[in-house]
Amino acid sequence: MTILRTRDELREWRSDGPLGLVPTMGALHEGHLDLVRAARQREGRVLVTIFVNPTQFAPHEDLSRYPRPFQEDVRKANEAGADAIFHPPAEEIYPPSDATRVRVGGVAEPLEGERRPGHFEGVATVVARLTNLARPTLSVYGLKDLQQCAVIARMHRDLALPGTLAFHPTRRESNGLAMSSRNAYLSPADRPEAGFLSEALRGPDLAWGRDELQRRGWEVDYLERVSLADFRPTEVDEDAAIVAAARYGGVRLIDSRLLGTPTSLGGINSLFTAPG
Ligand code: AMP
Repeated sequence: MTILRTRDELREWRSDGPLGLVPTMGALHEGHLDLVRAARQREGRVLVTIFVNPTQFAPHEDLSRYPRPFQEDVRKANEAGADAIFHPPAEEIYPPSDATRVRVGGVAEPLEGERRPGHFEGVATVVARLTNLARPTLSVYGLKDLQQCAVIARMHRDLALPGTLAFHPTRRESNGLAMSSRNAYLSPADRPEAGFLSEALRGPDLAWGRDELQRRGWEVDYLERVSLADFRPTEVDEDAAIVAAARYGGVRLIDSRLLGTPTSLGGINSLFTAPG
């Protein structure tokens, strides 16, 4: 396993053949490793990036306490078939007097865009930089962060970034809880209930889901059926998803469920792996 720390080391390591890119913030779990395995299967060579991106955290968010078990991550990524890990210090991504940001409109505006100002700007900026540095033939992202996938798809096309995009289904715990590095913030006592968010996405209707979450002690941020074209509420099931964000035990969790199997996100053609 090669560990790369600088832009120059990454440029030197990469070659012109097929390369799968899997950007992460580390604290790797089976959901991340699914993406590594998918990239490995398609491209043969995989670069995982581990970078806790400061620009996607709002001032009150959890940047300093975000988990960083780097040695464990190296072992897991290696076992899943990664060839190299790019783990740069912040100044390699944000050089001194850096003054450039990528701001996506449209799909980046509602829902998470509204509740977490600056979040998608940080995500788009880091993804654009990592993609330009790695110049992958394939980048793999998790549908766990569905709106993020749409934001990345839009930016990827608009900025003509290199490579194909692939979106991979959400890996879940046995109780339905979508795996997330942030699940580490849940107390063991709250974990069983945390799985209920995925059930709320699958209830008879949205009002039932919202009521039931509230009744069980959740603070609901949103539970909506949205169009994949713009992430605004829709009544139809085609090219749509149920998306939710809610807090339990002080921890904010997001989850989503695609309705049907789309072939594009917001009009951007991408590869979708069928839920397995
Ligand atoms: P993060 O480290 O949380 O920024 O996530 C890195 C990548 O892993 C993103 O593309 C996420 O959507 C994806 N990911 C996170 N959790 C899961 C999961 N449970 N299943 C599939 N992909 C995931």
